[in-house]
Amino acid sequence: METSTDDDGDPATAQIRLLMLCIALAISFQPAHKRIPVVFKPPLQKEAPVAKKTKAPPLKKRSKKKLYLTFDDGPNRGTKNVLHIVQDEEVPVTFFVVGEHVFASAVQHQLWDSLQIANHIEICNHSYSHANGRYEKYYGQPDSVVKDFKRTQDSLGLTNAIVRTPGRNIWRVDTLQYTDLKRSAAAADSLQKAGFVVMGWDLEWHFDHKTMSVTTAADDLVRQIDSAFARRRMKIADHLVILAHDQVYQHSSDSQQLRTFLQLLKKKGDYEFALMTAYPLIAQDSLAQR
Ligand SMILES: [Zn+2]
Repeated sequence: METSTDDDGDPATAQIRLLMLCIALAISFQPAHKRIPVVFKPPLQKEAPVAKKTKAPPLKKRSKKKLYLTFDDGPNRGTKNVLHIVQDEEVPVTFFVVGEHVFASAVQHQLWDSLQIANHIEICNHSYSHANGRYEKYYGQPDSVVKDFKRTQDSLGLTNAIVRTPGRNIWRVDTLQYTDLKRSAAAADSLQKAGFVVMGWDLEWHFDHKTMSVTTAADDLVRQIDSAFARRRMKIADHLVILAHDQVYQHSSDSQQLRTFLQLLKKKGDYEFALMTAYPLIAQDSLAQR
């Protein structure tokens, strides 16, 4: 019997073929709009890398207004309290000392020793004799004035050339020149010529000379400082030199005012305390001991 691979004659196969033909025709005549569009789907992309956040450059810190708190005439009875409070409050201050006072008693010499080892403290020269209280005569002899300051400089071994004239608000800081009483000008010029930087003050914390107590309360003084900055009542804008006197703070009511004053200023946050050697115009090479 001949076997054939041709299955044309098989009716079942013919039916399947017919059925397949019908399906093929049905698909090819499907209305276009029913066709499933082939949509190009781009391969899933990795999420676009998020740009790494770069830190914005820090906003330029507005530099705070500078306060130079200075205490004159020590070491004396008020020095211990002042030193204790400024150290406790961690406020840098400058002491303008009188040479003669350092050697006047054992207690004052001990205070001098305490100043020298204290942190955030700067010591400057307020003459040796403090003019013995006779200012007119003192400033009439410029050479003697220079000698008087050199005596303190040498006997105390001070490491900077900043001085303050007793009883006079005089400035000789590079080109900054100011003399409150003109008869003292020649002596001031001589000090500058001798290499000293003469530093006056912009604002004084006043006191009663009889009772040796402050006459301005701490909060009033803070208002005076705000006003001085607002009205630019200072030699160099944004730099205010404040004059205070050690002996005023020997009693607790006054020393409490000093503490309150420092705390109020720290709380405000507008100001920054600085040492005298950081004052503008002071050339660093002028700070070497004379
Ligand atoms: Zn003085």
